[in-house]
Amino acid sequence: MSDYDVVVLGGGPGGYAAALYAASAGLSVALVEKEKVGGTCLHRGCIPAKSLLHAAEVFRTVNHAAEHGVRLPEGKPEPDWPAANRRRAGIVGQLHKGLSGLLKRRKVTVVDGWGRLTADGAVSVDGDTLRGRGTIVCAGSVPRAIPGMDVDGERVITSDHATNSEADRLPERIAVIGGGVIGSEFASVYTDMGVSTTLLEAMQHGVLPIGPDRDVADVLARSLKRRGTDVHAEARVGALERTGSGVLVPFETPKGSEKIEVEQVLVSIGRLPATKDIGADEAGVRIDGRGFIEVDTTTMETSRPGVYAVGDCVATPGLAHVAYAEAVVAVDRILGEQPVPVDYGKVPWVVYTHPEVAWTGMTEAEAREAGYEVEVHKHSMAGNGRAMILGETDGLVKIVAQKDGPVLGFHMVGPWASELMHEGYLAVNWEALPSDVGRLIHAHPSLSEAIGETMITFSGRSLHG
Ligand code: NAD
Repeated sequence: MSDYDVVVLGGGPGGYAAALYAASAGLSVALVEKEKVGGTCLHRGCIPAKSLLHAAEVFRTVNHAAEHGVRLPEGKPEPDWPAANRRRAGIVGQLHKGLSGLLKRRKVTVVDGWGRLTADGAVSVDGDTLRGRGTIVCAGSVPRAIPGMDVDGERVITSDHATNSEADRLPERIAVIGGGVIGSEFASVYTDMGVSTTLLEAMQHGVLPIGPDRDVADVLARSLKRRGTDVHAEARVGALERTGSGVLVPFETPKGSEKIEVEQVLVSIGRLPATKDIGADEAGVRIDGRGFIEVDTTTMETSRPGVYAVGDCVATPGLAHVAYAEAVVAVDRILGEQPVPVDYGKVPWVVYTHPEVAWTGMTEAEAREAGYEVEVHKHSMAGNGRAMILGETDGLVKIVAQKDGPVLGFHMVGPWASELMHEGYLAVNWEALPSDVGRLIHAHPSLSEAIGETMITFSGRSLHG
């Protein structure tokens, strides 16, 4: 039996953030992890996926080098998939080393093994029992697969495999099933790398059907289609059939039935909480019908006092940075402080496709549905000098505000939207008036000017808008 202030179950973003933050507050911490610390985000998700998206961006940029006055004497560039994956693995390795070192410096005890909650709210690992004043479950999530789309890791893969590819080349043809965040990001990578890519989405809109404002999602959808992604909305995908050299993918849309043969299929139809076999029942930790751990989101405490849960294993947005924020809430509570709960309607969302899509707060439709009298202004990137210089004028800023009131939602698609969105994040969370932000200066020439221009427009006047 070992006693700690905090025992953390799972070493992904929720778990390592809880451990680091608790240790920084002077608490003794044990972190139980069955694989490498870093979790899905570092080893099979955010970091490797964004590294591959960057490889695709470099390839796209080099392909357009001539337009910028740079000749390639050897002719056209070619993707070098193993090299892109070596770089991806190197970045992951470096971050893993950094994280392990940080945990060590903060004196977090990392316990290697599968942890289970016990009846008295402790955690057992390989016969040892770890007891904490507080236990934080950060069990994460796994890709969802369904019968007929059986994943073999070779021809039918999930993002777990796509982010850890050791293949010597890209497939020639791929079908991506599910046009959500993962499907859109990988469709963007594959399309830009020259793979013939078919995107099959069950819902009415083929690209990012849930989440972003339609105006910004549609810019991404148009860009993907123009670059060659074959997008099918309202697609009902049948059982996949293996052939000698690939996979047959039958699907039906309102336009009719089709069957395409591809070399590989990426299944990206959502993720499920990884809450099986963690001892939740024994500990009296309630789990809902979908497998998520039930929590009071003002404290992240579960139905079992003293046991908390954060990250993908709870039914809040499945984002690493949300897990970080929830970890802080849980630890503050264990410290006996008054935690500031996460405002889930105002978290930052980023889809790292080309072009990038980022948003925070309400979409126009959500604001209207909530009963607000809204005022909406949009500003295209087409006339933005910096966007022209970059050669990336596909983009839009859209701001939703309460009439004569604060900014309710900020939506952007275009170059570096992932970074620029944080100005909108501040505006939404500080409940700023668009006219206040519009009075602030944005550097010229910059992509941010499009945000300033959109804010100014709410005053009824404008500069270039
Ligand atoms: P998702 O829920 O974003 O998208 C899944 C999509 O698959 C949905 O649009 C759904 O309609 C569609 N779908 C479901 N069943 C289908 C079927 N049988 N045929 C065709 N389409 C079907 O899930 P995801 O893209 O798998 O991502 C999982 C999680 O990972 C999400 O919580 C997401 O937020 C997170 N994530 C975030 C980022 C990021 O923030 N940039 C990146 C990757 C993943």
